[in-house]
Amino acid sequence: MTNPLLSRWDTPFQLPPFADISDDDFAPAFDAAMDEARANIATIADNPAAPTFANTIEALELAEESLSRVLSVFYNLAGADSTEKREELQRDFSPKLAAYSSEISMNEALFRRVETLWQKRDDLDLTDEQARVLMLHRRGFVRAGAQLQGAARDRLKEVLERLAVLGTQFSQNLLADERDWFMELGPDDLDGLPDFLLDAAKGAATEKGVEGHVITLSRSLITPFLQFSTRRDLRQKAYEAFVARGANGGESDNRAIAAETLALRQERAELLGYRDFASYKLETEMAKTPEAVRDLLMQVWEPAKAAANRDAEILADMMHADGINGGLEAWDWRYYSEKRRKAEHDLDEAEIKPYLQLDRMIEAAFDSANRLFGLEFTPLDVPLYHEDARAWEVTRGGKHVAVFIGDYFARGSKRSGAWCSAMRSQRKLGGDVRPIVVNVCNFTKGDPALLSFDDARTLFHEFGHALHQMLSDVTYESVSGTSVAQDFVELPSQLYEHWLEVPEVLQKFATHAETGAPMPADLLKRMLAAGTYDMGFSTVEYVASALVDLEFHNGAAPADPMAKQAEVLEGIGMPHAIRMRHATPQFAHVFSGDGYSSAYYSYMWSEVMDADAFDAFDAFEDAGGAFDPEMAKRLETHILSAGGSRDPEELYTAFRGRMPGVKALLKGRGLIP
Ligand SMILES: [Zn+2]
Repeated sequence: MTNPLLSRWDTPFQLPPFADISDDDFAPAFDAAMDEARANIATIADNPAAPTFANTIEALELAEESLSRVLSVFYNLAGADSTEKREELQRDFSPKLAAYSSEISMNEALFRRVETLWQKRDDLDLTDEQARVLMLHRRGFVRAGAQLQGAARDRLKEVLERLAVLGTQFSQNLLADERDWFMELGPDDLDGLPDFLLDAAKGAATEKGVEGHVITLSRSLITPFLQFSTRRDLRQKAYEAFVARGANGGESDNRAIAAETLALRQERAELLGYRDFASYKLETEMAKTPEAVRDLLMQVWEPAKAAANRDAEILADMMHADGINGGLEAWDWRYYSEKRRKAEHDLDEAEIKPYLQLDRMIEAAFDSANRLFGLEFTPLDVPLYHEDARAWEVTRGGKHVAVFIGDYFARGSKRSGAWCSAMRSQRKLGGDVRPIVVNVCNFTKGDPALLSFDDARTLFHEFGHALHQMLSDVTYESVSGTSVAQDFVELPSQLYEHWLEVPEVLQKFATHAETGAPMPADLLKRMLAAGTYDMGFSTVEYVASALVDLEFHNGAAPADPMAKQAEVLEGIGMPHAIRMRHATPQFAHVFSGDGYSSAYYSYMWSEVMDADAFDAFDAFEDAGGAFDPEMAKRLETHILSAGGSRDPEELYTAFRGRMPGVKALLKGRGLIP
């Protein structure tokens, strides 16, 4: 019998034939596709003909077609509907894939061909997109160490292996500290705690095998405890345990690991020819240099600090009114902030939910895409991988654009969070390939299913990523859709969230599940205002972490990261009652692998851009406002259809006429009037 993953898909829109695929098909399909990819790579590397863009770069672009077809189906299922078998397959595939990719980047014959093309790039008569694709392929090789010889090559390998070990150790130490600590609450210790927290604390106690209530270091317990507990002594105890994670001495202490990690990253960067790790890391980002990142963060820092200091005074007054003398401490902030929120912005989730029906919010996301880009969505009746998943055909002017799959409900087999992935990416090389795009969320089922405002925002966010994939219009898959710099990829998604907040959208689609009445104007206003509450605090704790991360990797690696952290915080005048969102011994973004190392800033960078970009629509108030057709056209042309085919700075400047400024973000966060 032929393997359905490897045979031709004669299905509508060449969707994967989910009904025919069994878990036993993945391993043999993976092996066969891997062999095929290896053979294709060998053919390219050993080609006796002189290298050309077509026989080298285009051939590379197509070399892994079967492999990516198998993997994109597999990873979608492994994330959205996992089984023990699928987890086992995942553990089996990942070292094989790592070995395969290092084999390619260390293939000298292959790199020589790419390098030859790169050296004579100006004579090759390439389109702009081709020139960029060549640059990206070559840069990938160089950054993986393809240019290194002998001892340097061996040393890079050692450094990378040691970094992988340290990253895993860092997370495990953190987990161990989080697992070991808990605080038992007696009957007198429960004052102020709301029911949902009492329930969760009881559940935690049962898990620990003790009677009554327990607070652990899980964020979902500790944060509400700090918000609601009237017991200042217990808040202090819990807070101090929370910020001591990874710094308790003994075997699970992360401080030496952090120092060694930073030193090895510095060495890695130098081996590859960079001044320091930040320069290496930021080369591929829109920000490009540590100076650009610092400059942006500092523009946000000062107004955020001023707002936080104003808030601190108000909260300290509230504390003094409670009869507590002395200064406001870190374990007081959330408690008094919650009291203040209740007094100024009381908002009851239960009041909002009936107005936010999942199906109406999906319609709202589709309708906005229709008004902006002319997209139309027609439900499709096709077999999918789970009964909760739904599919639509996306068309424009009667022409097929994409297939969109929405898989919205939480279930045990789905990993947490929300994401967008492509089961097939858009490209034009070797045929007009249209995308199949999936949005996966974890909303609670119901009849009808109701969302919180945060859930609705998540739905729009992931749909923004989906638009980036669906409207993609490039030749090469390696620059298609969301294949862009990390500090650029959240622009379309975060930008799309703004359309949820356009009052006319909510007025039309936020209707009561039972009565069908639109959301009352006053509730709508309060719901939107609540979004910017306590932004001084959250901006300060975030930006402080981002600046420390940046300075860790900018210049020589610090021998004592804790001393460096103290120095950076002192330098920026960190407010007394706020700490970093993630202090060094707990900073998993930066030390459990290098995904966000010297890149923690990127969340804020994207937010600066999305606020600035939406402001451009606002500026068109007289013309079409949030749905201005000319702005929508520019957004599609320069950003949503362009993928990574041009430098992100160029794309943004073409869209907006200039680089983004921080003003719209500061206004959006309520940090300036
Ligand atoms: Zn996102």
